[in-house]
Amino acid sequence: MKTLLRLIGLVKPYFWWMALAALIGFATTGSGIGLLMTSAYLIAKAALQPPLATLELGIVGVRFFGLARGVFRYIERLISHNITFKILAKLRLWFYDAIEPLAPARLMHFKSGDLLQRVVDDIQSLENIYTRVLGPPLTALLVSALMWFLLGVYSSEAALLILFFHALAGIGVPLLTKQLSRGIAVGIMEHKSEQQVLALDFFQGIGELQLYGQLPRHLAEMQNEEHGKLQLQRKNAIIDGMHESLTGLLMNGALIAIIWALMPSLSSGSINGIALTVVTLAVMASFEPLLPLPATIKHLEADQHAGERLFEILDAKPETVAPTTPLPFPTDQTIRVEQLSFSYPESPKKALDRLSFTILPGQHIAIVGPSGAGKSTITSLFMRFWNSSEGEITIGGENISRFNPEELRRNIALVSQKTYLFAETIRENLRLAAPEADDNQLKAALTAAGLGSFTAQLDEWCGQHGMKLSGGERQRIAIARVLLQNAPIMILDEATANLDGVTEREVTETLNAISAGKTVITITHRLHAMEQYDRILVLEKGRIVEQGVHGELMAENGLYRRMWELQHSAEMVG
Ligand code: ADP
Repeated sequence: MKTLLRLIGLVKPYFWWMALAALIGFATTGSGIGLLMTSAYLIAKAALQPPLATLELGIVGVRFFGLARGVFRYIERLISHNITFKILAKLRLWFYDAIEPLAPARLMHFKSGDLLQRVVDDIQSLENIYTRVLGPPLTALLVSALMWFLLGVYSSEAALLILFFHALAGIGVPLLTKQLSRGIAVGIMEHKSEQQVLALDFFQGIGELQLYGQLPRHLAEMQNEEHGKLQLQRKNAIIDGMHESLTGLLMNGALIAIIWALMPSLSSGSINGIALTVVTLAVMASFEPLLPLPATIKHLEADQHAGERLFEILDAKPETVAPTTPLPFPTDQTIRVEQLSFSYPESPKKALDRLSFTILPGQHIAIVGPSGAGKSTITSLFMRFWNSSEGEITIGGENISRFNPEELRRNIALVSQKTYLFAETIRENLRLAAPEADDNQLKAALTAAGLGSFTAQLDEWCGQHGMKLSGGERQRIAIARVLLQNAPIMILDEATANLDGVTEREVTETLNAISAGKTVITITHRLHAMEQYDRILVLEKGRIVEQGVHGELMAENGLYRRMWELQHSAEMVG
């Protein structure tokens, strides 16, 4: 119920449009009833062969209702589709706006296929909340009221009877359908969600599945999901058929009961044969708007589930929020890390433990350490993907939480191990860093990043995840992005870790060239050309265990020297 109210709250801005659509929906059904009534009147009356002039009213009525029904239906469709698209646009924006601050910390727990389904299917299910859930009961209610009034003119019993049968068909049958189809809509959605997860895994991991001979098992799992979904859909179809026949049965029941209730009026002459025919047909027509109601209940269930799934994400508190009065990014870019500690949620151990260090503007420092030491966690805290548990990071003396996260990220360029390229052209992938950059700027950046040969291929498609480019080329695109971003601080987080030796050296040289004059934090577990750094911090289990320049650390005979010797002896052997 709470979810439904929240959903209704979301579509509240369109209240007047919805009221208008319901009214016109009612006018459409009303015209249908009117058409049947006037036709019945015309046929019954004509059978008695009266003078033609007396049929005039019937003829005009048939023409009017016949035309009106079409026009009203058209307007009703126009308005309800308009509402649907407005709702869809609003929901998508609302959802994207809401999930953006949650990335990446709070979205980590959701599988990407599942998220995709929430963004696509759940929102699509909700876009029809008016046409399938809110609209039909309103129209049905208005039609019931009309019939109650119409029959009330002749007999109060008949008026009560129509309400009774309408209630049975409009409330009883839908509730019965709901009972029978309990969990089906949710089940179908869950199967679909699981199918998306499996399909995405299939496309992205087909290589691994083939390699380990798991393809048949994975396909069997996909087939299982499809089978489960089909079974539920079959059950659904049977229940649908049942509700239509039940509504038909009730309509006939209502017809007999109402004719029976009107018999005394017929005998007493307060209703004549023609009026009885007219009323009878009206009763039949009035069941039409009740037919969609069982589906309404099903959609309601599905929409509530979709709503819950969306609200589940949206109710997650963002890890970082923008301050209400953000400070401008300072000109003094001295970075100070003081007593910085961090633990990931639900993880008992500290990923970072009371880290303190200072980086002066223009300094190049390296943070090294074995894998799992906490190096990348430092990047995440700098970029404010996460907030520190204790201690603080300051730039120019201000805690980084005082800056707008977007502004902070504009001023700290990050090249990480994995550069994500969108399935777009090279131009669009570069423009991610500088949307307003023109082609000449893009070409200059590509050339400086060592991709001079790409300057003629800005319109080249990069392939899914940039598959058409080599690892080295992808990293160079990342470097071109950093150049375009032109941030004063750079974090190179294992930027060359995925590259082969020769490419690594070349990319490192390019990085060195572009980082002159900037503050650079290089995070690496590979100890290459370490003499160039103003300071090296050695991290182990979240703590700084050594620090100094390369020569000092080598003299210390500690972890750094052991790492260095291990890597270099391996190289020598290699
Ligand atoms: P490094 O970059 O030095 O390899 P990380 O900063 O990635 O190390 O990880 C530091 C510690 O935090 C590790 O013990 C790792 O298992 C843990 N960790 C990293 N990311 C997460 C996460 N998202 N959730 C829970 N624990 C994490």
